[in-house]
Amino acid sequence: MELRALGSTGMQVSPLGLGTVKLGRNQQVKYPSAFELPDDKAVSGLLDLARELGINLLDTAPAYGSSQERLGRLLGNRRKEWIIVSKVGEIFEQGESRFDFSFEHTVKTVEQSLATLKTDYLDCVLIHSNGDDLQILEQEGALGALRELKRRGLVRSHGMSSKTIEGGLRVVREMDVVMATCNLDHNEELPVLEAAHVQGKGVLIKKGLMSGHVQGAAGVRRSFKHVFAQPGVSSMIVGTINPVHLRDNVRLLEQVLEGSA
Ligand code: NAP
Repeated sequence: MELRALGSTGMQVSPLGLGTVKLGRNQQVKYPSAFELPDDKAVSGLLDLARELGINLLDTAPAYGSSQERLGRLLGNRRKEWIIVSKVGEIFEQGESRFDFSFEHTVKTVEQSLATLKTDYLDCVLIHSNGDDLQILEQEGALGALRELKRRGLVRSHGMSSKTIEGGLRVVREMDVVMATCNLDHNEELPVLEAAHVQGKGVLIKKGLMSGHVQGAAGVRRSFKHVFAQPGVSSMIVGTINPVHLRDNVRLLEQVLEGSA
């Protein structure tokens, strides 16, 4: 897969990224069916397959259960082959989510992620919004903390996984990367994608397959066509623990990007 610029960060990412919620968390998730977490052998195989297929982008978060611990252990000396996106703000404990967007908690979370992922830098850190995007950006310490962590060289770029148009537009003005929802049923955030394109900011798409509610290969193809018809999309993060789906997704996306599907 041909790599794309992640906005103006200088980083190049594959148009398909691997979402890792399902590597570490199967409670309080909105997928169509229940699932068991894959074992270490399956996760290693999935990571190797993703690299083989040209995927270089991993999306993770401390709130994704054991995702970071497993990645830290299983990536081993191959960490540098990946662009790792992590998050701050959401805490998932004993089956429940809560949020903390303070300066101190943001710094502590990044330091913990570095230790857990066994790395000395994160390629991108996103503020994991609870929906109050503007309030978080204007009144909490997370944005200031990420700026400080960038200065210290621990974080290469920052952004927000936002939920509102106003918030997304603010992210585009003030940060490097925006993660927004775009799929066949959700197009409210298109103005955010457009603004990011105009201003040369990175765009990561979440829930592009409607969290698994698309129908078959035709639904996946239509979803890819829809997302990649938008200007400025750097990468679509698709979460899968099924190697057959991973291969299908890469094949279908390549066809869409070549214009042959
Ligand atoms: P998604 O990528 O739209 O959907 C993932 C679901 O689609 C999985 O259940 C997967 O099941 C299924 N799937 C994947 N390929 C398929 C195929 N070819 N055919 C049929 N089903 C397929 O949604 P998401 O997981 O909600 O979002 C993607 C990633 O974005 C997450 O992993 C996470 O990294 C990130 N995210 C971030 C936020 C946030 O607020 N920041 C929220 C949601 C997601 P199988 O495992 O069976 O393939």
